Amino acid sequence: MSSLPAFWCVIPAAGVGSRMRADRPKQYLRLADKTILEHTLNCFLDHPNLLGVMVSLSVDDPYWPSLPCSQDQRIRRAQGGVERADSVLNALLALEAEGAAADDWVLVHDAARPNLSADDLNRLLHSLAEDPVGGLLAVPARDTLKRAGADGRVAETVDRSVMWQAYTPQMFRLGALRQALQQALAAGQPVTDEASAMELAGQAPRLIEGRADNLKVTRPEDLQWLARIWV
Ligand code: C5P
Repeated sequence: MSSLPAFWCVIPAAGVGSRMRADRPKQYLRLADKTILEHTLNCFLDHPNLLGVMVSLSVDDPYWPSLPCSQDQRIRRAQGGVERADSVLNALLALEAEGAAADDWVLVHDAARPNLSADDLNRLLHSLAEDPVGGLLAVPARDTLKRAGADGRVAETVDRSVMWQAYTPQMFRLGALRQALQQALAAGQPVTDEASAMELAGQAPRLIEGRADNLKVTRPEDLQWLARIWV
């Protein structure tokens, strides 16, 4: 893997995941023998080019200390924020405080996306290694897309040939992403992923096609589906 760049990993894991209707945040639900968060971390911990991981957690998170990986020296803890973007920004600032450089690559990946394949991770690193901006894993829209009207009826059918679903990891230079997030948050702009902050900063992140089964556990059926394919 020497042709691939070294990278930091940021895992925002401070959400509550209310759509799962579970007794705990979704990243701490079990999938086979481990929690979702442990599976997610393992997608990166095995990689030879990993510099380290920063996980953003709620201040009062009671679950993290009981996981064996909380003792792993490669994983550091940052404070979660009100929104995902705040959690990511806190992690980036913590990495900078620990000596990470502005032009280091950072991969931001959702805590509840445990099925990232090694091939997808390597394709992202390889495709963007020389890119001036960075980019993200994404999947072309497969279904016909409808824009809904206020009355819950179809207002319009959207041209799906140019539509993609944004997945993670999203890969950007640490300093550029930190600045983009700070500017977007200060301006009160909605930032649902890192790429949207970069877009607001005038950049055009590259879309790297990834596997559709790198899904984010959002609803109970997502976890049931992953449990069925898990080997
Ligand atoms: O809620 P959603 O699935 O979009 O969250 C995406 C990721 O962002 C999850 O890993 C969640 O834990 C994280 N998050 C966070 N801080 C928040 C809200 C969400 O770290 N305030």
